[in-house]
Formats: sequence, structure tokens, C-alpha cells
Amino acid sequence: MIRVRVGLEEAATRLASHLAEELAPRGIMPVIKGGTVILDDSSSATTLSIEECAEMVRRAAVKAGIRYRSLLIKGEELILVGGELRPREREEAPKLFTCPHCSFITPYEEEYWVHLKTHYVGF
Ligand SMILES: [Zn+2]
Repeated sequence: MIRVRVGLEEAATRLASHLAEELAPRGIMPVIKGGTVILDDSSSATTLSIEECAEMVRRAAVKAGIRYRSLLIKGEELILVGGELRPREREEAPKLFTCPHCSFITPYEEEYWVHLKTHYVGF
């Protein structure tokens, strides 16, 4: 059993979901307890080595948008030092105006109306 100390609970949750992607095929489901992710390999066919785990945590941290100063290995524990979340990228896509007559797309409403009028010239 390996513990990954992340500190921030939200960061631990995100890290766990990315770790799950890698660990699911091996039958290991990360468990989150406070700011710590627990990887229990007792029911897995293969045991996890701490070095292997450290590699996975590094990859998962990048995907999860977690910045940290260093990753320490202490026995059966991995400690993410100075872990923090990068500000989330805007999840909502900006509103886009799509012309019903052609493939014109713009995020600016004004530009959209100006464009739309061009289809009606001559009517
Ligand atoms: Zn158009």
C-alpha cells in the first residue's frame, strides 16, 4: 500500500482520477482520504513499486494541472512538496455565433450581424 500525500484535497482528488486511468487495468482503485491518495495494491496481481508509483504520480500531476516543488520518496510514502493547483482553464467554451447560411463563425455578436446582412444584400 502506497500513500501519496498531496496536501490539498482538491488536488488529491484530481490526481487520483488521473492515477485511476493508469491503475484501473491493474485492478487498483485510488482512495482519497483528506489530502492523501491511497493506492492499495493488496488485491492486485502485481505489486506496485514506489519508484513506479513516483513515475505515475509525476505523469498524473502534469495531466491534473498540479504544480509542485519536488516529489519525495519516504518508505511507502510519496510526498508532493509545495503542491498547488494551476488555475483551471476556462471550462466553458466562449459563445460563438454561427451563420445559418454559410460556414462563417465569430465570437463577436456585432461582427455576426454585419456578416449576416451580407447574405441579404439584393433582397
Ligand atoms: Zn454567412
